[in-house]
Amino acid sequence: MVSSDCEVMAVRANFHTHSTFCDGKNTPEEIVLAALKNGFSAVGLSGHGYTPFDLRYCMKDTEGYIAEVTRLKRVYKSEIEVYLGIEEDAFAPVDRSRFDYVIGSLHYACVEGRYYPIDSSYDHFKACLAAFDGDILRLAEAYFSTFCDYIRRRKPDIIGHFDVITKFDEVDVARFSCNTAYQALAERYAVAAAQSGCIFEVNSGPVWRGYRTTPLPNENVLHVLKRLDAPIILSSDSHSVDTLDYKAEEMTAYLRDIGFRYVMTLSHGAFVRVPI
Ligand SMILES: [Zn+2]
Ligand SMILES: [Zn+2]
Repeated sequence: MVSSDCEVMAVRANFHTHSTFCDGKNTPEEIVLAALKNGFSAVGLSGHGYTPFDLRYCMKDTEGYIAEVTRLKRVYKSEIEVYLGIEEDAFAPVDRSRFDYVIGSLHYACVEGRYYPIDSSYDHFKACLAAFDGDILRLAEAYFSTFCDYIRRRKPDIIGHFDVITKFDEVDVARFSCNTAYQALAERYAVAAAQSGCIFEVNSGPVWRGYRTTPLPNENVLHVLKRLDAPIILSSDSHSVDTLDYKAEEMTAYLRDIGFRYVMTLSHGAFVRVPI
């Protein structure tokens, strides 16, 4: 990762966090307390929306989650802004009127009615790729066309980890980053998705998990987003309080090196630009 000579101010907030209501390690209250300890001005909970075709990672008690985050908003009102978000899978729409914001993500490829997880483990990814006969371009076309159709229809507030199919690209063979046809395809879909006006998430989750050295989306996609002046938001997709504020300064410097001069954050109930 390149570090900038310029001093950058990282935003003290994170809106992509998972708690014990789904596959996270900490309770929502522990996350809010850790955010306070980190000096955050705001924190958002974004549990995985219910996916009936795969119950391993999603929230089963969505009502309990809504009640608990609503309680925390009230309890910590004078200290920090707490937001009730959700990470909706593109294959499993939620009632977004219940939430302050929606992160729209695609975690599966559907082949002949079967849902293949893309990013939950490297073995899952390889099984998913095998469903496309090992052809990364076919997988990428299916993934991006499904995702961009969802983005156009549902217009989530935030587009989660846009090119997550590349999450494991540094694990053994660089299938995607060495393939110029793939890069052109991803850039074409990034242009299409940017027309939605939605905020693109820059997700450092695969970095703290040790899979990648740079966040998602890949740098070529980030350059496209910069050229289009598409709004971006930085998050760590944290699943424990240890990664709530993961390398925020370093990630912000990386974005500044690419040319970004502002990121989005939630403040007083609205997404606003803040300079970096
Ligand atoms: Zn996700
Ligand atoms: Zn997530």
